[in-house]
Amino acid sequence: MYDCIIVGAGPGGLQAAIYLGRFNRDVLLIDRGGGRTAHAKSIENFLTQKAISGKELIERGLEQARGFNVRIEKGLVTSIVKKEYFEIAAGDVLYRSRFVIVSSGVNDNFPRIDNLHTFLGTSFFTCVDCDGYKTTGKKLAIIGNTIESVRLALAMKEMYTDDITLVLYFYDPPGDYKEELKDQGIRLVKGEPVRVLGEERIEAVELNDGSRIPCEAVLSNFGFKLNDHFLKDLDLKRDAKGFKISVNNVNESSVHGLYIVGPLNTGNDQVVIAAGEGAVAAIDINKRLFDF
Ligand SMILES: Cc1cc2nc3c(=O)[nH]c(=O)nc-3n(C[C@H](O)[C@H](O)[C@H](O)COP(=O)(O)OP(=O)(O)OC[C@H]3O[C@@H](n4cnc5c(N)ncnc54)[C@H](O)[C@@H]3O)c2cc1C
Repeated sequence: MYDCIIVGAGPGGLQAAIYLGRFNRDVLLIDRGGGRTAHAKSIENFLTQKAISGKELIERGLEQARGFNVRIEKGLVTSIVKKEYFEIAAGDVLYRSRFVIVSSGVNDNFPRIDNLHTFLGTSFFTCVDCDGYKTTGKKLAIIGNTIESVRLALAMKEMYTDDITLVLYFYDPPGDYKEELKDQGIRLVKGEPVRVLGEERIEAVELNDGSRIPCEAVLSNFGFKLNDHFLKDLDLKRDAKGFKISVNNVNESSVHGLYIVGPLNTGNDQVVIAAGEGAVAAIDINKRLFDF
């Protein structure tokens, strides 16, 4: 029986583990490996870290959590069931815990484009808050297929670069948006990108008709999916779209004792936000443990 089991060793789960470890609680952190933070080559917007890779941030966090006696297991959590306590299944093992923090993050929806992983996090980007700044003054291709992609192109023009090509698969923007793109000097191309070209750096995106769009950076705009399949047995409230999981001001979900931190809830997908939410959840759980 643990005081708290944490699912996911990203910034959210690690920060919660460090707090609960320092309250001398019995904590188990379960992580399957991989995750979004592992793809971040250079995080530049985290206080006091001029630049740190996601991998290093996680390695340092794991070491710090171990130092406060947090038990860390590698494993894929497949289900969580609420009885008097929580039962958490990972592989053949069933764990029991009084509280649970879920910090399993999200996964990008990637377009099917050859070679994109070579440049992911260095010049192929999916998140403006994370990497928009790195496109400053660059020749940029934005790939998407919705009105959001059009709005993103206009925002990128305002914030980062004048040299933008917007590639839409088949979506046809309303006339006033087309006018605005034209006025802003943003090139609009219809087609399906199939390959990123370049060895050390991105040189172009190739479309399925063989045409090439010269660029130095690519911003992909296809959203993300939640890593939440193991929560299917729980009656969790979601937002109006039935997508993100609703939480209260200490990040507790509609399931009593189960906390959700990071991008799975209504927050943004940022290291500092996930970590802050992890700390808030951990402090609240620690207070409630006095009543057990
Ligand atoms: C290319 C890239 C660049 C980025 N750059 C920045 C940046 O500059 N600044 C910034 O603030 N953020 C950046 N991010 C976002 C950031 O890395 C995290 O996504 C964010 O901090 C959320 O953290 P998290 O702890 O909620 O989730 P994650 O970091 O995604 O961690 C979730 C963990 O849970 C594990 N997991 C998932 N499901 C299960 C399961 N069923 N069982 C066990 N384990 C499971 C995953 O394997 C993973 O280790 C970037 C992301 C990417 C992809």
